[in-house]
This record gives sequence, C-alpha cells and structure tokens, in this order.
Amino acid sequence: MYKCDKCGYTLEETCPKCKQKAKLIKLPKYNPEDKYGKYRR
Ligand SMILES: [Zn+2]
Repeated sequence: MYKCDKCGYTLEETCPKCKQKAKLIKLPKYNPEDKYGKYRR
C-alpha cells in the first residue's frame, strides 16, 4: 500500500490523482519483542 501526501492512501506506486510518486508504507505488524521491551524497560 502507498500513501500520497496530498490525496491519501492508494494502491498504486504513482498516485492516480496527482500523478506524483506515493510513499510505500508498511502496515503495522504485531511485534512480540517490542511488547517484551516495554515490560522489561
Ligand atoms: Zn496524490
């Protein structure tokens, strides 16, 4: 999934609305190490 700064999310690398290159974003994934890190400080 990509995100255009002006138009929001898009599925294409190039925004179909403003024809600018959108940024590739990764969906947040569950990270067990991060969770343990908070508990351990
Ligand atoms: Zn756009």
